[in-house]
Amino acid sequence: MLRVGLAMLQGARYEHSEAIRAASLQLGEDVEVIHLKMGKQVDAELDCLILPGGESTAMRKASESESLLGAIYAWMSEYPTRPVLGTCAGAILLAQPGLEYDPFIRTGISRNAWGRQRDSFEAMLEVSLEVPIGKHVETSADKRNQFNHQPLPVQPSAPEPSSEQFHGVFIRAPRFEQSSIECIPIASLGEEIVGVLDGARLALTFHPELTGDYRFHRWLLHRASNAN
Ligand code: GLN
Repeated sequence: MLRVGLAMLQGARYEHSEAIRAASLQLGEDVEVIHLKMGKQVDAELDCLILPGGESTAMRKASESESLLGAIYAWMSEYPTRPVLGTCAGAILLAQPGLEYDPFIRTGISRNAWGRQRDSFEAMLEVSLEVPIGKHVETSADKRNQFNHQPLPVQPSAPEPSSEQFHGVFIRAPRFEQSSIECIPIASLGEEIVGVLDGARLALTFHPELTGDYRFHRWLLHRASNAN
């Protein structure tokens, strides 16, 4: 059983829960998602972590009363081989931890660097990351809800594309400072690097949890089950 810690500070949290559930079914892996609200929940039993997107300043503030971020950073320092996925604001928190920590992702990052909320966009990305293939399972991304809304109609339905493309959803996204990237680029939008891997930490400036493509969540589970 893998235990996935999900930082419930603010932002797109529940979508990650659903994405992990789908990825675990695709891989046939038993998973428990722990909704982290207090620092004391961050313990040695966690196999991996997710820092969702949202608003990083609000997240830092939300963390103050229960010291969640401090506990997460301490956990990351103690278990450097356990994987962490940070999306959008989560990527900011990895690259700019503040407190007394060195960056967990070695790159500069600029907040809101694509512009304002209305400058948010979707675009096809190139991804190069080794991810186990998952079997097709029906998830909420395949269904409409009671309002006849459907989650973003983003790939894949079965079968998953073997191509290295990924549908990127950028919401008031940050940008990596391209000349300061000192880790491995794994996703790009044309010339621009939008995803990086630093050891076991993966930072994306977009939101894979808002799509029906769970590759990055499968990567997290796979890496967690192989971490030492
Ligand atoms: N603009 C947000 C921030 O600065 C990040 C946006 C997001 O996570 N979608 O924290």
